[in-house]
Amino acid sequence: MCMAKTDWERVVEFHGHSCPGLAVGYRVAKIALRELAEHRAKDEELVAIVENDACGVDAIQLLTGCTLGKGNLIYRDYGKHVFTFICRDSRKAVRISVRGGVWRQDEAGYRELRAKVFGGTASPQERELFRRHQEERTRYILEAPEEEFCVVRHTTMEPPPRARIFNSVTCAFCGEPVAEARARVREGKFACIPCAGEYSRGW
Ligand SMILES: [Zn+2]
Ligand SMILES: [Zn+2]
Repeated sequence: MCMAKTDWERVVEFHGHSCPGLAVGYRVAKIALRELAEHRAKDEELVAIVENDACGVDAIQLLTGCTLGKGNLIYRDYGKHVFTFICRDSRKAVRISVRGGVWRQDEAGYRELRAKVFGGTASPQERELFRRHQEERTRYILEAPEEEFCVVRHTTMEPPPRARIFNSVTCAFCGEPVAEARARVREGKFACIPCAGEYSRGW
């Protein structure tokens, strides 16, 4: 008998493992789709603005169809678990801010255990303890009451411009084509960013 996979199983398969971060993205995607359903015609494009590049973004890409490759997933490197979804035509948007408490990082010994596991110094027992801890946190995130999980705010906003296709120029240093919008100039010639050796004073 062939059983259809649940959405959770599909995201775990896509991401490669089950983890608390993935559970956050799964819940956020489900809330966004539910909240914007009435404003969203079948073909109307949804845009997601994600303020981190953690595990959860994989669930968002798979479940909402907002993907990096299509250009309707915008990444802002703010290090926040805030996700905004905008319907392109109606401009209706929903901003979902995940509450800090859902990570349960303050539980006794958790941070030390995590440091050991990621530092490669944990014993097999400690690794098993960490795995169980992660499983518990994942389950909690999937099942917590919504008010405990996040703050949802409806708003309207201007969607970001659609993805554009740029002409290319050839980098004079490596010979590879680079989109005009990303080309730099080095010694008076076109350069790609890796070849440009960008000048920075660190801010
Ligand atoms: Zn993960
Ligand atoms: Zn180059």
